[in-house]
This record gives sequence, C-alpha cells and structure tokens, in this order.
Amino acid sequence: MTMLPFKLVYSDDYYLPIGAHVFPAEKYERVHNRLIETGVAEVSDFLTPQPASDEDILLVHTPLYVQKLKTGTLSPREELELEIPYSPELVRAFWLAAGGSILAADRALKDRVAVNLGGGFHHAFPDHGEGFCMIHDVAVAIRRMQRDHKITRAMTVDCDVHQGNGTAAIFAGTRIPGGPLPSTSASVLSPAVTTRSSHTGDVFTISLHQENNYPVSKPPSSIDVNLPDGIGDDDYLAWLDNALSSGLRQFEPELICYIAGADPYREDQLGGLALTIEGLKRRDELLFRVARTRSIPVMVTYAGGYAQRLEDTVTIHSNTVIAAREVFAG
Ligand SMILES: [Zn+2]
Repeated sequence: MTMLPFKLVYSDDYYLPIGAHVFPAEKYERVHNRLIETGVAEVSDFLTPQPASDEDILLVHTPLYVQKLKTGTLSPREELELEIPYSPELVRAFWLAAGGSILAADRALKDRVAVNLGGGFHHAFPDHGEGFCMIHDVAVAIRRMQRDHKITRAMTVDCDVHQGNGTAAIFAGTRIPGGPLPSTSASVLSPAVTTRSSHTGDVFTISLHQENNYPVSKPPSSIDVNLPDGIGDDDYLAWLDNALSSGLRQFEPELICYIAGADPYREDQLGGLALTIEGLKRRDELLFRVARTRSIPVMVTYAGGYAQRLEDTVTIHSNTVIAAREVFAG
C-alpha cells in the first residue's frame, strides 16, 4: 500500500562527491532515511530517476560548456567559480539530479505534486556553473516538459535564501508590467521588491531572497523580493503570499517549480534570515495551498541548506514532504 498521494524521486547516487564541504552532500540520503524511519513514506513511494540525456541538458546549456564538463576541461577559474571540486563522478551526479527533476515534473503533472529529494541547482547558467551548481536541473525539466508539449508555461518560485540568478538569466524573456507590489505588510522591514518592466516569455520567475547575500550581481527575475537581513516567519510569509498573488494575477502557469531551499533558517551558516523550522513548514504549506486551490501542479526541489546542525536541514527538507502530504491529502 502506498502511503503518500504523490511520488518522491530519489537515488543514492544523488550524493555529491565533493569531500568535506559546507554543502552537506549526505543530506539527500539522510532525508530519504528520515522519511522511511518516521513512517512518512514507504519504499513504494519512491521513484528512481535515470540520468538526463545530453540532449536534455543541451535544452538549457551550451554545447561548449557541456563539452568542457564531459571532457574535464573547465579552466581553473571556471572550477573556482563552481566552488565544488570537478570530477567525472560529480558530472554524473548532476546529470542524475536533472533526470530526477524531469521525472518529478512529469509526475507532478499526473499527481498534482511530486518532490525530487535533490536538485534545485538555481545558480547554474547556460554557459557556466557557480555556487555549488553545475547544471540547472529545474530549467532542464521545464524545457523538457515544453519540448514534449506537456506544458507551455511554467513558474519558478524560489525560496532559497540566495537569489536564483541562473534561473533569472535562463528565462530572461518573461517580464511583467513594472511598478511596486502593493504592500500587504505593515512591517518596517519592507523589502525592496522589483519587477521587470516589459513582457513576454513562457517562464515566469519569482525569487524571495536575502538581498545582502550571494550572488552579488542579481540578474532580474520576473519578481524579486529582496529581503532585509534578519526577517522572520510572519514577514516572510506575508511577502511570499504577496509575491504569489501578484505573479498569479499576471501569469497562468501549467506547472509551478518550487525551489524549497532550507537556508532561510535562522541557524543557517550561509544565510542571514531568521525563519524557524516551523515557519519554513508554514512556507511550504502556503505554497502548496495556493497551488492546490488554483489546480496548478507543483514540482519540488530542495536546493540549499547549511544549518549548523545537519539534523535541522534534514528536518526542514523532510517537513516539505509532510507539508505536501497534509495539503494534498484527500
Ligand atoms: Zn542557497
């Protein structure tokens, strides 16, 4: 008997062979094990992905960059920018993560929601990788769904603490009428919200992130919510709600790609926001509720998470699955 009304996508080979690193490469396996051990999921709830094909990767990335990755010919500067050590095994792990996001997107269209227990590598650009991200698995999944004529329009909702610069650059065609969002928050912590000034494109990008953090240069998303340092649960949730309402007033996606970073957490080593574990679960519930109410399928990826205690990152990522179960039950 399957316990969950949707599928989880996972492989032991999601592990990133990067040695001792602030990126906890073992988090994927730990989340998988936690979900099984706590009875949230059964073995039958999981699907095992296949690596993306080179053809899939080339829907987003340039032939030259793909060739460099496959032949181990990144320049020292390019490898430095990636911030994780190159190896052929690492290339395979990123091709697999992209395959996982393709599978999750496909399943989400059938089951309303699907979670890839990995992926979310939103700092990868068509011609280079950076910030621990070699391949933009979410963009690959969107382009593959479009190529297969399963969707035409998608929306990315990026709640990682770092701005989705790769996503913004890849989908730079989608712009919305300019002007500030109507404020729904009386807080003094008003983020600088920017929207782009002209339109069209088939992917609408929303990023909520800490302004004073990586990446220094932030190419414009369709909506960027540049949050001040130290923002907490209630303000964050108000701005997420606001951004979703604004985006969905102007754009009708057939798929939402939710990048559920764990690093807005107040004890994150690479983040400067102050969300609690409970607040992050409410964030997930809010996103899922909006999607369910509007009958928009959601594909989830995990992106970053660098809590001082790995157990907290595992809890935050596991809670995303629990939130999806609660919202999509019945
Ligand atoms: Zn991040």
